[in-house]
Amino acid sequence: FTSKLPAVGTTIFTTMSQLAAQTGAINLSQGFPDFDGPEALREALARHVAAGHNQYAPMAGLPALREQIAMKIERLYGRNVSADSEVTVTPGATQAIFCAIQALIHPGDEAIVFDPCYDSYDPSVTLAGGRCIHVPLAQASFAIDWQRLEAALSSRTRLIVLNTPHNPSGALISRDELDRLAALIRDRDIYIVSDEVYEHLVFDGRQHASVLAHDELYARAFVVSSFGKTYHVTGWKTGYVVAPPALSAELRKVHQYVSFCGVTPLQCALADFMAACPEHVSELPAFYQAKRDLFCDLLAGSRFTFTRTPGTYFQLADYSAIRPNWDDVAMAQWLTREHGVAAIPVSVFSERPDPAQRLVRFCFAKREDTLRQAAEKLSAI
Ligand code: PMP
Ligand code: GLN
Repeated sequence: FTSKLPAVGTTIFTTMSQLAAQTGAINLSQGFPDFDGPEALREALARHVAAGHNQYAPMAGLPALREQIAMKIERLYGRNVSADSEVTVTPGATQAIFCAIQALIHPGDEAIVFDPCYDSYDPSVTLAGGRCIHVPLAQASFAIDWQRLEAALSSRTRLIVLNTPHNPSGALISRDELDRLAALIRDRDIYIVSDEVYEHLVFDGRQHASVLAHDELYARAFVVSSFGKTYHVTGWKTGYVVAPPALSAELRKVHQYVSFCGVTPLQCALADFMAACPEHVSELPAFYQAKRDLFCDLLAGSRFTFTRTPGTYFQLADYSAIRPNWDDVAMAQWLTREHGVAAIPVSVFSERPDPAQRLVRFCFAKREDTLRQAAEKLSAI
């Protein structure tokens, strides 16, 4: 048997969550809340299950949910998208990204990803027969390094994957950077997958610069989001893709054979909740900023150093003052086993990680008592 993904093993999220469970450590590794989604949302799900909404949903998603998504996009990003021909609901953002990549990439095509990057992009490109070109982001700022990006472009480049707000760093791509990217690819046959699953988790009054708000880029983009992040229900695995009609049609050709459709009662419940509570998304920045600030204030007396993350629910921390010679995988294991707090090593998100980098990622989507207990343990090191 010849593996199509010889370099792929178990993901770091599974590895670290398992180690946290085995050792009883507080799990700040894999990104998920340790609190529940809104009660009204969960009640809506129970209601729809009881009402018998348990058969296949339409392939592209429940019309009522696609309408809500389209209304949100109009409200937040000023774009009028067709719920019918531009919005597709998928079982999770990961599947959305996979389908977009399968729809785009032909054997021999190249896709550019920025390291550190989310772990699903590269295998999705490889399975489509393409090749991922990993372009490192600038050190410390995690901004696009334009020289490196330009050097990586070739006649085979078909796709650039963006992720803003960025996992694991929290960095945001600015509107100016989107303009610069649009100019760079203007005369080339290059498409964009924009992973914006943390679109509502942006702090300190900053604005999320969505590709949905950028006419030129949107014309060649698949924009992906996830209800899991927005409604604190990562286990619901429901997301969506927004793309111009011709691109959506190609994406749906793949989606209908990967899963055909998403889970019906989940979509019903999300549609109800979005209609009843549109303010949920505008309350999210303050909600998560308070958690970030609590965690960072408590860590301020520790030997970790950090700058407060501008977005996502992840906080990077530099441990050079604690174990200057240890790589981050060893550090994350040690933190979990010996200090009872699980973290994610940042190097695993890069093809060629900087050996001098000393960063781990903590997820602060946690209850206040969880964050206090974790910070106490981390401050004692
Ligand atoms: N992209 C990024 C950057 C993520 O952090 C995640 C969350 N794991 C996903 C995509 C996938 O989201 P989902 O759980 O909806 O598949
Ligand atoms: N996106 C989540 C994270 O970055 C993990 C999702 C997963 O386990 N695949 O932690």
